[in-house]
Amino acid sequence: MTAKLLDGRALAQSLQAQFQGQIAEAVAAGHRPPGLAVIQVGDDPASSVYVSNKRNTCQKVGVTSFAHELPASTTQAELNALIDACNADPSIDGILVQLPLPPQLSAAEVIARIAPHKDVDGFHPENMGRLAIRQPGLRPCTPFGVMKLIETTGVDLYGIEALVVGASNIVGRPMALELLLAGATVTVVHRFSRDLAGHVARADLIIAAAGKPGLIRGEWIKPGAIVLDVGIHRREDGSLCGDIEFAAAAERASWISPVPGGVGPMTIAMLMHNTLQAWQAHLALRV
Ligand code: NAD
Repeated sequence: MTAKLLDGRALAQSLQAQFQGQIAEAVAAGHRPPGLAVIQVGDDPASSVYVSNKRNTCQKVGVTSFAHELPASTTQAELNALIDACNADPSIDGILVQLPLPPQLSAAEVIARIAPHKDVDGFHPENMGRLAIRQPGLRPCTPFGVMKLIETTGVDLYGIEALVVGASNIVGRPMALELLLAGATVTVVHRFSRDLAGHVARADLIIAAAGKPGLIRGEWIKPGAIVLDVGIHRREDGSLCGDIEFAAAAERASWISPVPGGVGPMTIAMLMHNTLQAWQAHLALRV
């Protein structure tokens, strides 16, 4: 392997230690700790794993998490009422609704109902819009975490050819906006795009977020490219892999993020970052 590893686990741990220090200092000075409402509807097993990871991280960092586990039969009116209550609660700085939601509930309606200053996932139309017009507020966690990992390479993104594979609201689109904000020349490919191999071959930086195991072949990658893999899949033997053929890609890339241990831990670290950002803004308002 010639590529250097982008170690998301180590970076996430060091960021979390830093956040823990900031919180401990503020609490010692008499402030209340940050509060995060974590709302899960139904008991999708993957969602339960994500939610418990988020709550464990809250505990480590010193964020108070308020768990709301609602039945799968919850109505939109009931969920809206809970969000309204969290919006109004002065001890809550951030509200996270774990997606996906059961089919009777609208994720778009839920996201738009969260007060933008408590939207620590960064999915509210106001926060997405702010990112689009170069005035970022709370930023979507996964793309923000990818940017923090890229920063560790020390590579200047101005003018480089960046490729985002995937165009979802939660990863691909905000990823493209982050890269544009950083000065890259950005191409986004999605399920209707032609010639994925050709796009990959031209890119200096590749962010894969299609949710298709092994979609990106190592041999397509331009020698020296920086490669980050957002995809997460569980193989039949229980191990995890991403959208990129890791071993072959690592022979050509200059930097590569592994799955697991790359982008995944950064998403939770940036959720903590956003919760701190919201908390600091709320404390300043109340002084
Ligand atoms: P999604 O299904 O909502 O979106 C996938 C996108 O990929 C779509 O825009 C689609 O058009 C595109 N796509 C599908 N097939 C393609 C192809 N053959 N070529 C090019 N584009 C193609 O998925 P998502 O929610 O954005 O998640 C993507 C992946 O990232 C999943 O594996 C998910 O588990 C993972 N994920 C990881 C984290 C993390 O923290 N690491 C966070 C969110 C999502």
